[in-house]
Amino acid sequence: RATIEVIGLRKRFGPTLALDGMSFTVEPGRVTAFVGPNGAGKSTTMRVVLGLDAADEGRALVGGRPYRTLRHPLRHVGALLDAAALQPGRTGRDHLLWLAHSQGLGAARVDQVLDLAGLGGGVARRRAGGYSLGMRQRLGLAAALLGDPAVLMLDEPFNGLDPEGIGWLRELLAGLAAEGRAVLVSSHLLSELQHVAGHLVVAERGRVVADTSVAALLAAG
Ligand code: ADP
Ligand code: ADP
Repeated sequence: RATIEVIGLRKRFGPTLALDGMSFTVEPGRVTAFVGPNGAGKSTTMRVVLGLDAADEGRALVGGRPYRTLRHPLRHVGALLDAAALQPGRTGRDHLLWLAHSQGLGAARVDQVLDLAGLGGGVARRRAGGYSLGMRQRLGLAAALLGDPAVLMLDEPFNGLDPEGIGWLRELLAGLAAEGRAVLVSSHLLSELQHVAGHLVVAERGRVVADTSVAALLAAG
């Protein structure tokens, strides 16, 4: 059972202050909604946690440790950042087989996560060139689940899903959290997450402006 701790992150891109003291904790066992307008710093925060961007100040810990020091990072943390970039001539399943191989996992695990992502039954055996955004989101989700990680970070995973897909993803997220995972999900639309999130972190201009359990929020009316 691991947490994500974001502690006082500051990050500048040229004149833009992308993160201005971003701080919050993601607890295991519930979905934490990370909401706020475009440009609030949600993606940058996730990229810093994953070591893809360096912060100017502050730090980020996964299970108490910086991501880069984790011995098996892909087994600890599953991430969906941008809808998977795929080679158009290969199939989605091929893409996952390649990722699985690099983690020492086999085809059986690939077919398991394809089922979890709603891509069982052969859709992932078509060439990726014709995939919709929703299909690529599902494939990215399958990739994030490969290593059975205790921590999930999903950036705008509802993008490109139809209403049925949105309902399906909410249920999947609830199940993943109920199993004890720490699940951080960003969206610029609170409505996508309000029925599934147990905790709400609202960001604006690179910092947290609200951090509350959803139960407390409802009790406050
Ligand atoms: P969100 O995910 O909440 O939409 P981002 O983290 O993507 O926000 O962006 C926060 C701010 O940082 C925005 O003003 C964005 O334009 C800027 N930004 C993000 N990444 C870069 C980058 N690589 N180069 C320059 N500016 C960036
Ligand atoms: P449920 O438990 O909701 O009835 P199913 O048995 O149909 O669901 O689906 C498989 C379950 O496995 C899902 O609930 C899902 O939360 C869970 N699961 C999610 N991620 C993984 C994973 N990486 N490895 C194994 N099981 C997972």
